Amino acid sequence: MRGVRSKDTSIELMVRRALHAKGYRYRLHEKHLPGTPDMVFPGRRKVIFIHGCFWHQHRGCPRAKLPTTNTEYWLPKLSRNVKRDQEAKRELAKLGWLTFVIWECELDEFDKTIRKAAQFLEMTAS
Ligand SMILES: [Zn+2]
Repeated sequence: MRGVRSKDTSIELMVRRALHAKGYRYRLHEKHLPGTPDMVFPGRRKVIFIHGCFWHQHRGCPRAKLPTTNTEYWLPKLSRNVKRDQEAKRELAKLGWLTFVIWECELDEFDKTIRKAAQFLEMTAS
């Protein structure tokens, strides 16, 4: 199976292309930011993470279902990922960044998901 840090996955490329086509410009995998967000929109102070449902344990999602074997291996590993994600989001918020997560399964409704991402990017702080 693919490692959790593997980047430039196809779902990520799909999202990037779609947002780029809408005119959004971004940086990728900014390592100086907590959690190394997949897409960074510096002018808007917003970041997008594109998460695989299994690796990041999308809550309530069928794709996040744990394997029935090797649970003593998977459980701590996956809960570490979840904890890391939560910490990254908290740290980003402290630094004034807004976070949006796109889940792998949401890409089944691709246009809708991209629309939601665009709404997030257009949203202004109130
Ligand atoms: Zn999911």
